[in-house]
Order: sequence, then structure tokens, then C-alpha cells
Amino acid sequence: MAEKKKRKVADENRKFREWEELYFFIQIKDKIICLICRDSISTLKSYNLKRHFEQKHSEIAELTVGERKAKLKLLKDNLGAQQSFLRKQHVQSNAIVSASIKISNIIAKKMKPFADGDYIKECLVAAVEEIYPEKAQLFTQISLSHQTVARRINDISTEICATLCLFSKNFVYFSLALNEATDIKDTAQLAIFIRGVDRQMNVTEELLKLGSLKDTTTGRDIKEAVINCMQVHQIDLKNLIGIATDGAPAMVRKNVGAVNLILGHKETLQKTNSFELFM
Ligand SMILES: [Zn+2]
Repeated sequence: MAEKKKRKVADENRKFREWEELYFFIQIKDKIICLICRDSISTLKSYNLKRHFEQKHSEIAELTVGERKAKLKLLKDNLGAQQSFLRKQHVQSNAIVSASIKISNIIAKKMKPFADGDYIKECLVAAVEEIYPEKAQLFTQISLSHQTVARRINDISTEICATLCLFSKNFVYFSLALNEATDIKDTAQLAIFIRGVDRQMNVTEELLKLGSLKDTTTGRDIKEAVINCMQVHQIDLKNLIGIATDGAPAMVRKNVGAVNLILGHKETLQKTNSFELFM
């Protein structure tokens, strides 16, 4: 069976070589392409190739054997050069997108306005024009408009969130750090940081969520926000082993502080789980 298959492949390869010399057709991936006009042929039959060649490129038939060979080599070389040019362009356009993402990431980390992308690009182009003028054109293609920067930062944030969700599923233990403060608009913001460890002892520490608290900022409100965040990120509360806070009364008060309420909620969950197991 294998022998038969091998023979079939060898047979097809031989046919392609013949078609190349006879009709100037070449195979690129799963396409059969005419080297002269770049048309592709859908049905792979000798007759179709022959008809195309005779009808459209009769001038080649009048060439001598030597001229034909030279023409074939020239066409093949041109096609090769064009393909490597396209490949290079593809790599370049990937690099241009990647540069735009990296710069947007810096803008986000430095907490600068999205619109700064425009002048950063101006600086980049100005510098490259001085140092490496022949590459300046490439730098003008980096998209850094405020809309693009906003979109890139959104994409980065979604990516970080997805990766964190993936990691947090493997946490065997984790702790939280909570901080509640008001922003410049006088809205209460709750920051939830998580630090977890998996079975391989890899430690991950990340800002899990920054969200505003509506109306009041009691221990109960903070607890609800934390529990909600755990559910959204599918983090199992039973692995929670510690909560650090800034020591504000809403966090640490004896009965109604967020820490006690969250730990109380965890205990209730564990009791219900063991009760369900027992049943
Ligand atoms: Zn053709």
C-alpha cells in the first residue's frame, strides 16, 4: 500500500516537472499557476494546461529550446523574488502592529492620555528621519491615533484578564488585598489585588479588579463586590487564606467589617458543601 502511494507521489512530481517545461505551469501550495499570466487552473488535467498555453501564450512555442529554458528560469526567478517580497511585507506589517501595541501598553502603564500617541509617533518619525531615513516610511505606518490606542489598551486588558482567569483556576491557595479610596470625582473605588500559588509553586500577583462602589461603602458593600468579583473570575473562595486591608473601619470592624463578612461567607459555603457531600 505504502509502495503504491510512494509511486503515485513520484508519478505526480514527474508530471508537474513536465508541465513546467511544456506549459509553463508551476505548483504553489495547492494551486497550479501559469508562470506567464499568473492565472490559476482549477482542474488539474494535462489537456486544460495545454489548451491554456496554446491559446494564450502561442508566442512561447516559437522560441528555440535554449530561449525557452532561459525564459522559464527568468519567470521562475521573478515569481520567487515576488513571493519573498510579499513574505517580507507580511513580516513588516506584523512588526508595525506589534509596535503599535507595545507603545499603547507604555501609554497605559504611564497613565498618559490616549491622544499622546500622535505626538509619540511624530517623535519616532522625526528621530528615524535623522538616523535611518530609508526606513522612515515604515514608521509613518504605525497607527497611534487615540482611537487605535484605546482599542489596543482594551485588547491588552482583555488578554491580561483572560490569562489571569486561566492562572487563578489553578490556585491551590490565594490571598486578597483590598483598598477602598475615593477618586477625584469623589466616587468610592475598590481595588482588589490577588496573590495565588499553584501546585508547581508558581506565584502570581495581579490587580484583579478596580471598580466603583455605588452609594455606600459599608463592609457589606465591599463584601458583595468581592464575592461578585470572585464569581465573575470563577475563583473558588474555599482556597482563600488571607485578606489584607488598609485597616479602615469598613474593612476590619468586628461584626460588620468586610474581612469578617467575607470569611463568614466562606465558612457558610464550606458548611453547605460538606452538608451536600454528606447528603
Ligand atoms: Zn497563462
